[in-house]
Amino acid sequence: MTQDKFIFLTEKGSFGLPTPPQMHNKGNYIISLGNFCRWLGEQAEALGVEIYPGFPAAGVLYHEDGSVRGVATGDMGIGKDGEKTDGFMPGMDLVAKQTIFAEGCRGHLTKTLFEQFDLREGKDPQTYAIGIKELWDIEPEKSKPGTVWHSVGWPLSTDTYGGSFLYHLKGNQVAVGYVVGLDYSNPHLSPFEEFQRFKTHPAVRDVFEGGRRVSYGARALNEGGFQSVPKLTFAGGCLVGCTAGFLNVPKIKGTHTAMKSGMLAAEAVFDMLASATPAAEPKNYAEKIESSWLWAELYKVRNIRPAFAKGLWLGMGYAALDTYLFRGKAPWTFHHHSDHTSLKPASEAPVITYPKPDNIVSFDRNSSVYLSGTNHEENQPVHLQLIDTTVPVAHNLAIYDSPEQRYCPAGVYEIVREDDGSNPRLQINAQNCVHCKTCDIKDPTQNIRWVTPEGGGGDLEAAALSWEQAVEHFANSVAVCSNGAHLERANDYLEGRSARRCEYEDGSRRGRRGLGLGGSKL
Ligand SMILES: Cc1cc2nc3c(=O)[nH]c(=O)nc-3n(C[C@H](O)[C@H](O)[C@H](O)COP(=O)(O)OP(=O)(O)OC[C@H]3O[C@@H](n4cnc5c(N)ncnc54)[C@H](O)[C@@H]3O)c2cc1C
Ligand code: SF4
Repeated sequence: MTQDKFIFLTEKGSFGLPTPPQMHNKGNYIISLGNFCRWLGEQAEALGVEIYPGFPAAGVLYHEDGSVRGVATGDMGIGKDGEKTDGFMPGMDLVAKQTIFAEGCRGHLTKTLFEQFDLREGKDPQTYAIGIKELWDIEPEKSKPGTVWHSVGWPLSTDTYGGSFLYHLKGNQVAVGYVVGLDYSNPHLSPFEEFQRFKTHPAVRDVFEGGRRVSYGARALNEGGFQSVPKLTFAGGCLVGCTAGFLNVPKIKGTHTAMKSGMLAAEAVFDMLASATPAAEPKNYAEKIESSWLWAELYKVRNIRPAFAKGLWLGMGYAALDTYLFRGKAPWTFHHHSDHTSLKPASEAPVITYPKPDNIVSFDRNSSVYLSGTNHEENQPVHLQLIDTTVPVAHNLAIYDSPEQRYCPAGVYEIVREDDGSNPRLQINAQNCVHCKTCDIKDPTQNIRWVTPEGGGGDLEAAALSWEQAVEHFANSVAVCSNGAHLERANDYLEGRSARRCEYEDGSRRGRRGLGLGGSKL
């Protein structure tokens, strides 16, 4: 890192602010988390660790006494109708004396563990943000490797928590993203559109002009911090990383705490593996966390994010006091409320009109999803489940003008009607899902459940590759289709034009082939 810049944006202008100490990146390196995880994966495999990419853990297995026995991977080859197809492959049971859950923010199995073991009792609700991110190839003369910019202000109103980040990487690349706190109250707000608008601001637009957007992704991140961390252990296992909520919000960083918690969990369960007890509770892990720098770090910044519930200016004022005067030791702790309770009725909130994309620096959702690296087998059960199918129209449309149409960064949720405007109903375009989990968090009545899609829903093979390798991989994967038309469509794809689907020689159809740079591992 060579330069940190923290700016406030007005609609047409900008001014610099002192960079908050938590956001100083001196001594840090800007790296690709995807590349780093790939390298770590190789080290683990060299030590004999088995890795099963492409097999999501779909359920928790329990012993008769209620302790955790392991996880079950999902069945593959179940059709939309819930029946087995010719490609059916039953899931596998992966059993262990200790199971460490590391699902990232809003873990799907972790949610069930919260209920099974009452892990959230006495804790604040977890709160979240959605982070939307793009990777760009920019003009070489604009590249400033090591430069980090953060902004607050426009286009968000001051009552909504959020802002941008922009990292200049090596190789004339820029990672740019926008974070919006999911406790926002205006149901007309679209985090995706706010991000697209942000890139058109005169202070940043020039970085992207003449460049090429390479990939797109979105992911929820934890914002609850210290007061929202659940009980970490249960009989047979524990929680690490963002599934436990260890992200440091003022820093917007959680890889360091994820790694530290993983190391402490490994130390804690190591001795238990040698014992004969099948599924004891690794209580030692929670003790190790509480006496580590991770816990002290989260404690110190615990009041900063909740202070922003009072708006940007009061939040920034309090953050300065808390950091410089109280030094994180104020004798009080602010609390959180659940994000799904924060929406106002649509009639009480100002309508936001977003500009059309210019297709130079701002884009629509379809072309964005196309670059996201998600790939779903089309004939599979919908992985976005409605608990009550009447709620989307009777409640969400009636009161909030269907906010899922706007908070979903992938255009999965659409209210469709007859030509005369009658018979509104919710259409779920599940194949577009980029797995950010925002709907699972923000739906006002918690009526939407995100469950693991078959095969994980990403182009996992390509996800393990660099841009150049991914392009090559994609070309190779198309080469297996002997039909020339498919190759042509693939070339279209590589040149950024695109076919949304590819039909294979064996008649199977697969979703978009992405370049595997989506999600939080962008
Ligand atoms: C937009 C954005 C920007 C960020 N920027 C930074 C930054 O600059 N620096 C920083 O330090 N942190 C940053 N973070 C936070 C950082 O990404 C996380 O804190 C960190 O990745 C958490 O690591 P984890 O291993 O706990 O979870 P993750 O990195 O989310 O990994 C969890 C993995 O488990 C997989 N998984 C989930 N459920 C299942 C299942 N049931 N079965 C099988 N696999 C499953 C997921 O696909 C994923 O690969 C950012 C986050 C976002 C969203
Ligand atoms: S459907 Fe839900 S999880 Fe998927 S992209 Fe949309 S909001 Fe995110």
